[in-house]
Amino acid sequence: MRIAALYGAHDFRIENTGRPVYGHDECLIQVKACGVCHSEIHQWANTINGLDYPRYIGHEVSGIITACGSSVKGFNPGDRVAIWTDHSGYAEEVAVKANRIFPIHDNISFIEAMAEPISCTTNGIILSNIELGDTVALVGTGFMGLILLQQIRLKGAGKIIAVDVRDDMLKLAKDLGADVVLNPLKDNVASRIKEITNNKGVDIAFEVGGNQATLDMASDILRMEGKLVIFGYHPGERIIKDLGYWNWMAFHILNAHFRDMNKILYGAELGIKLLNQGKMNLKSLITHVYPLDKIEEAFQAAHDKPMGFVKAVINFED
Ligand SMILES: [Zn+2]
Repeated sequence: MRIAALYGAHDFRIENTGRPVYGHDECLIQVKACGVCHSEIHQWANTINGLDYPRYIGHEVSGIITACGSSVKGFNPGDRVAIWTDHSGYAEEVAVKANRIFPIHDNISFIEAMAEPISCTTNGIILSNIELGDTVALVGTGFMGLILLQQIRLKGAGKIIAVDVRDDMLKLAKDLGADVVLNPLKDNVASRIKEITNNKGVDIAFEVGGNQATLDMASDILRMEGKLVIFGYHPGERIIKDLGYWNWMAFHILNAHFRDMNKILYGAELGIKLLNQGKMNLKSLITHVYPLDKIEEAFQAAHDKPMGFVKAVINFED
């Protein structure tokens, strides 16, 4: 079978290897789609010291079960599924434990059935404990932000304010139900939010961008004792700037990064259930689809984010 191996910066190579061996509690999956994750871009853009290359990455996988181990119950060959795997997703086949497999309905396409991002957003929403009528700001409306937005609506937020420097993303946010959209390059976000909230600030701010500017913005617009949900991925150096202000404002700081496997699988199961029920639309967020041998182009697009880009996916449908 074919698998993409990352040998270093801008150096994916398609290799031919044997089919994965699956254990008694695992299923073999014919991969149909694997999403390109923001968290993978840095190890493709630059060769990272301390990481082993070649690397077999790819973790946002969906496909069809082709075989099941002897102790697997409840799944059968032919089932359409999303799966949780932490490696080797850019491949024609992957083996995975049955408790990391989530069925998807026939009307859900493979390119939108990504258990890992959906698990992250679902657990982030649970952690934030949004209450009916809350004013919620979303700072960063890329792929993850636009999934969060839909789930914030499901939780009954009163007003949703989307903040992003890209107008194309803000248009999508508006289409998906944001009440107010603000672009820091054009709008004075802090003063607009003061107007909207009677000088109070928002009840909850989701920081999704994963950089200093989005973190600063989220804390600038938050009310006293509001909840700052750090959802963005923050590798590398420490970027908290004003801990004294956070402390004085009595913010509730929530770190929406999840490591416990039981929690991750719970979020995936619940999130995929919502997707199956038609409560979330991910299809419109999949803007760039590539075959496996164009994986370099897929990563380039995810890195450059051209106009209209939300999410790149490797597709094995052909
Ligand atoms: Zn991911």
